[in-house]
Amino acid sequence: MSASSGSNGARQQVFVLVGGTGDLAMRMLWPSLAMLDQEGFLSDNLRIISVAREDCGTEVCVDRIGNAVTSRFGEWTTPEALSRFRKRIVHVALDAAHDDWGSKLKAELGDPDTLDIVFFLSVSPSLFKPICEHIEKAGLNKAPNRVIIEKPIGRDLATSKVINDSVAHAFAEDRTFRIDHYLGKETVQNLIALRFGNMVFEPLWNSQSIDHIQITIAETVGVADRLGYYDEYGAIRDMLQNHLLQLLCLLAMEPPSALTSDALRDEKVKVLRSLKAITAENVLTNTARGQYGPGFADGHPVAGYEAEKGSPSNTETFVAIKAEIANWRWAGTPIYMRTGKCLPSRTTEIVIQFKPLPHSIFGPEAQANRLLIRLQPEEDISLTLMNKAPGLTSEGVHLQPLDLSLSLIKAFDDSKDGKPPRRRIAYERLILDALNGNNAQFVRRDEVEAAWTWVDGIIKAWHDKDMKPQKYPAGTFGPVSAFSLIERDNGRMWND
Ligand code: NAD
Repeated sequence: MSASSGSNGARQQVFVLVGGTGDLAMRMLWPSLAMLDQEGFLSDNLRIISVAREDCGTEVCVDRIGNAVTSRFGEWTTPEALSRFRKRIVHVALDAAHDDWGSKLKAELGDPDTLDIVFFLSVSPSLFKPICEHIEKAGLNKAPNRVIIEKPIGRDLATSKVINDSVAHAFAEDRTFRIDHYLGKETVQNLIALRFGNMVFEPLWNSQSIDHIQITIAETVGVADRLGYYDEYGAIRDMLQNHLLQLLCLLAMEPPSALTSDALRDEKVKVLRSLKAITAENVLTNTARGQYGPGFADGHPVAGYEAEKGSPSNTETFVAIKAEIANWRWAGTPIYMRTGKCLPSRTTEIVIQFKPLPHSIFGPEAQANRLLIRLQPEEDISLTLMNKAPGLTSEGVHLQPLDLSLSLIKAFDDSKDGKPPRRRIAYERLILDALNGNNAQFVRRDEVEAAWTWVDGIIKAWHDKDMKPQKYPAGTFGPVSAFSLIERDNGRMWND
């Protein structure tokens, strides 16, 4: 729990959603808030203010929000709960970049000294500076008020500092909540429980027992209507700098001394700072850049990235990296990370590949153990163990791999009245934490900067070596060079 925030006793809680009519708000944020309300997590006096440029009026805005909630969670909402939720919301049409927006918002909110405000800036980062300046000018930035911001936080270290500085002027670090929505996912949070709530893994969680780690975030879709944004960023900035590296931190960090936000984040930032630099000398053997060409993905023919853009592009839609963490626990353990668009399946998974037995009394049948942590399409954790194959054979004992499965969905099945279990949106957990002032699952500024420092080095090395993205047919797992990263070490990605 951060020292300065949290639900503040007598103060009235207000959630101000700037960009309340946008895509992210409608698909993720409003449904998350509605479900938190339905499940009794929102305080009775919480007011929600939607701010956007559109002057659609509260009634129309609330109707759109109601539709967004029912299209996502229709099966699980009740008319009573939805009606109570709708009554909390007021829509205010304001240009948040305009000089007088802070004073107008203040007039809507009332006396700031009686309020506990959480701002969620679901708008382009180019607006963070003017928005925070006006919040500050109107005196709405004082503790306990806090701000939630979304990626992208810059496109390199320098631009991330500009964004962070502009937010820091108005909000202290412990009241700045940087979202990486992967950190709100149930299975990602379970990584901490699995590693630090059990004795069995810790003695094996190091380079002596683990051969390598694989992390894949694969999307079947292309860039679609995000092309304008994506062409400026590419896969390394859009996915690897944040989501993939956050997963890596949780997997590789040392046990924190406590489950407090700073203890956790201190350990994560050490991992980022221990990543071995990738430079022009080793970039060709440690990274692969790809861009999807014509093919077939997500059930549709794909024309290819450049055809969709209508001009040549040097942006990668796929990146694979062989990383190494230079510390006592992990030195010598390769970590293969990859992410991309127009790949054959929509999966997010982590593979912890253990080393083979030092001496097998069963011959080559004995396969090395593997821990598979799957976040998409289903949340599941399974440990492959070797067992005796059942039955008699004249040659004696035969081995057979068996998966010990910890399916979170099956173990904690919350299906009711024959309805399937509801799959939470990651933002539910994160919004609830922000309302409660708990910033443990948010990214601290030094983490963002350490991640950019490492990623900037890779981008510079690509530039120095003139390493252009190689084409891969849409619907395949990236260019040939991506497979070589692990094949050179006599391995393969486990599901290829
Ligand atoms: P969007 O363009 O769909 O919506 C933007 C919203 O901001 C609209 O409500 C618009 O009215 C409002 N807005 C824009 N300028 C404004 C201003 N000057 N004053 C007040 N309101 C203003 O964008 P989006 O897709 O919802 O994305 C919002 C932010 O979240 C962006 O920074 C984006 O990069 C980030 N993000 C989006 C997604 C996603 O899935 N859409 C995912 C991750 C991050």
